[in-house]
Amino acid sequence: MTAQLQQRYAAKVHRHKTPARKPQRYYFERALETMPREKLERLQLQRLRATVRNAYDNVPLQRARLDALRIRPRDIRSLDDVRELPFTTKSDLRDTYPYGLFARPREQIARLHASSGTTGKPTVVGYTAKDVERWASLIARCLACGGARPGDLIHNAYGYGLFTGGLGFHYGIERLGATVLPISGGMTERQVQLIVDLGARVLCCTPSYALNIAEVAEREGVDLRKSRLEVGLFGAEPWSEALRNEVQLRLGVRAIDNYGLSEITGPGVAVECEAQDGLHGWEDYFLFEVIDPDTGAPLPEGEAGELVISTLTKEALPMIRYRTRDVTRIVTRRCSCGRSHLRLLRVTGRNDDMLIIRGVNVYPSQVEAVLIGLPEVAPHYQLVVERRGNLDELTVEVEATPAVPAGEEAARAVAERVKHQIKSRIGISAEVVVKRPGEIPRSQGKAVRVRDLRPKEGRA
Ligand SMILES: [Zn+2]
Repeated sequence: MTAQLQQRYAAKVHRHKTPARKPQRYYFERALETMPREKLERLQLQRLRATVRNAYDNVPLQRARLDALRIRPRDIRSLDDVRELPFTTKSDLRDTYPYGLFARPREQIARLHASSGTTGKPTVVGYTAKDVERWASLIARCLACGGARPGDLIHNAYGYGLFTGGLGFHYGIERLGATVLPISGGMTERQVQLIVDLGARVLCCTPSYALNIAEVAEREGVDLRKSRLEVGLFGAEPWSEALRNEVQLRLGVRAIDNYGLSEITGPGVAVECEAQDGLHGWEDYFLFEVIDPDTGAPLPEGEAGELVISTLTKEALPMIRYRTRDVTRIVTRRCSCGRSHLRLLRVTGRNDDMLIIRGVNVYPSQVEAVLIGLPEVAPHYQLVVERRGNLDELTVEVEATPAVPAGEEAARAVAERVKHQIKSRIGISAEVVVKRPGEIPRSQGKAVRVRDLRPKEGRA
């Protein structure tokens, strides 16, 4: 970030903080969001028992697993008893494709979504009419928590269709009492024009697509910092603090992280408040645990591990101890916003995304953070992993900014600098390939950050 940009951002933030523009504290569901923890935990226990009852009575796989452990739903007497319950994994969904984990017959399902797996069959998830309704309230709550208000125009650039992002936010925006622009992803020039012409205050999309919008606007000579945009709700892919700063600067918004996954409900599971200090996980809907991913043992508050979630209200697809493969830490101390629900400290990456390069663990977001600090390269990148002999080699493809002169000599100088920074800040040796402006494919939704060319069986 250049000093000049920093100053401009400071000026914008300062404007946000002047009394006239200070956002009023607003809760979509005040009583639920600020409920004392003791009361919240009593509600969780009651709902956990109902969820396990639902799974036991209606999902043969869950019934068989509980029977094998000689557990009946009525045996659950405290929240700690959740630790006795079996985990559910992504492969359970795949193995029982398409409806095996559903607790309602297909005729009672109001909505289906699906996510395309990298291998083989997609994951199909379902909602009853009541599930859809509760999901809408949950997203309305997230939108308000992040700074959206009834009456706002909300530009929803999450993809519509089988992906839960577009329709999930769509229903939540309507429930909040805001105006939804259901634009979906793609045709970015038109998106820029409509943000300006229609006067959206809130932008919803993936962080990588937000960056794409910023770049297209700059190329078209449109300064979105002068538009009416003030808030961005970005999620559905892991991103670094450095990318957050970049997007805040270039769009002139407060960038709010939100988290969800279709197996649990889609977006709406957790969201940052205006304090931007961890994501509030909604405990009246979900029970959160953090475990050691190798042993499955629960970890104490504050320790980093794999996030495990049980749903507490889902009728169609009750999930018991779903292993998300996302890495996070939990804190329960009260937040300055007044909400009592725990916070997930920013999910840095998925276990699945982690690369092991010559014994060193690397997340793409770490490389991203290095690149964003360097003025000669744009914040677009891809990581290519290959096996040469017995060793994994990492190539980082970056893109020079237009200010870097064309030609091999300049590219080599940039490559050396990037290589040096990656080595000194992450501790790995990577090849660096410098491409010309525009050569790295832009995100139209979920960004492709890693091309793993290693043979499948040999992957760490
Ligand atoms: Zn808060």
